[in-house]
Order: sequence, then C-alpha cells, then structure tokens
Amino acid sequence: MSQRPPLDRRQFLKATIGAVAGAVGLSACSGELAADGSIDPAQWKPLPTAQPSPTPRAVEALTPERALELLLEGNRRFQASAGVNPDQSAARRAAVALGQAPLAIVLACADSRVAPEIFFDQGLGDLYTVRVAGNILSDAVLATIEYAAERIAPPVLLVLGHKSCGAVKAAFTTIELGAHAEGHVQSLVEGLRPVIDHIMATEKDDIVDRAARYNAEYQLEQIRRRSPAVNRLHREGSMKLVAGYYDLDSGAVEILGAL
Ligand SMILES: [Zn+2]
Repeated sequence: MSQRPPLDRRQFLKATIGAVAGAVGLSACSGELAADGSIDPAQWKPLPTAQPSPTPRAVEALTPERALELLLEGNRRFQASAGVNPDQSAARRAAVALGQAPLAIVLACADSRVAPEIFFDQGLGDLYTVRVAGNILSDAVLATIEYAAERIAPPVLLVLGHKSCGAVKAAFTTIELGAHAEGHVQSLVEGLRPVIDHIMATEKDDIVDRAARYNAEYQLEQIRRRSPAVNRLHREGSMKLVAGYYDLDSGAVEILGAL
C-alpha cells in the first residue's frame, strides 16, 4: 500500500478551509493563501450560502422594528396561553434544512425555565439562540454571535436577563463573601464581576434582580464594542440591539433598552 506524502502547511490549510467551508454550508471560498501559508484578509472572501433563504416569511424585507414587534407579539400570545406553536411542521423542517434566516439572535441564560422559542412562540429557524449561565460573554459566545452576524445578519440582537437568575445570585454571594467558586463556576463569577461590582456600589436593595437587568444591558454593550460585525450592522441600521428581561412568573419579556 502506497503511503501519501504528508501535506505541507499550505496544502493542509487549503484542505482544512475547504472542509470547514463545506461543514458550514458555504458553496465555496475564494481567496488565496500567501506563500507562507497565512490567509490574506483582503483576499479572503467567503461566498454566500448556496441557497437563498427558504423562510416563508420574507425576513430580508423586515425592518428591525417589525422583527422585534413579531417577537413581542409572540410573547403576548405565550402570556395569554394563546401560542400557535408556529413553524414546527414537516414542511417547515424541510424548508429550513436548506438554509436559515432567523428573526433574531438571542443571548439568554441556560436556566431551564428560560426558553426563548417557547416564550416568543416561535419555531424552527426563527431564532438563533445562544444560551449560557448568566448570559455572559466568552470568546466562544462572541464567536457564535459573530458567525450569525456575518453569515445570516438577523435584524435583531437581543440579550435577555431574567428573574431569579441563579448564576447572578451565585456571583453576588461569592463576590460579597470574597470567596472563590468551585471548579469552572468561578468563570461565571468573573464574567459577572463588573456587573456585580457596579450594582453593589450603586444600589442597596434588590441587588440580584437589579444586577440581572443591568447585566443584559452591560453584555449587549460589550457585544457592540467587541464585535466588528455586529457594530457594522448596527451602524448601517440593519440590526437593532436590544436588552430585555424575562419574568419567570408572568412570562412577560420587558424591553430594558435598545441601541
Ligand atoms: Zn439565569
């Protein structure tokens, strides 16, 4: 059996890029590698997805304001126990298998009671949801949001805090005691530390709830500052940046502010 010669770095990168492009659904990538195998950003032009959006709703034609309205209309249906559970049919599944054009990127807490598709009464392909305890940022979370901003550009980016957030409460307790959380949980504390420090310095009552609210606005602002793709879409007026708060008891989503 003949043995293939090992790929040099340049060949390896080309093969890897091709595999990644295929995995994320790109039809092809243009752009050449420099002689040293590096990627010249000026030459790197990922092509758009091969399929136009199959989403029945013409998301491209929606203004950010209308997209937010649709979410809030869905939330009102949910609160009234009048949800229609849209976009869950076999036809919808087949349509979105070809591509996605969600209404919004939603960054929310991993808490099992905080399920955006349910409380916005949306279905398959409607929300690009990122969930992590305390809805905090990390490189992976930012990359996930940037991926959607670059490739899908939904008209709304919504960061949602919620009532009785265990992650915020744990961060507050740990910081107040000057303690260190066990294992990886400390990374949640660090992600929330600027928020807790700010609220402890400015508020006396309802620290956890005030921190959960402020955290949504804080993380939204951090995304705007740290993500060039989000910042560009926001400046162009094609993406509305919104902070919200979900009430576990009433099911209502309250808009805290928008950028
Ligand atoms: Zn939470």
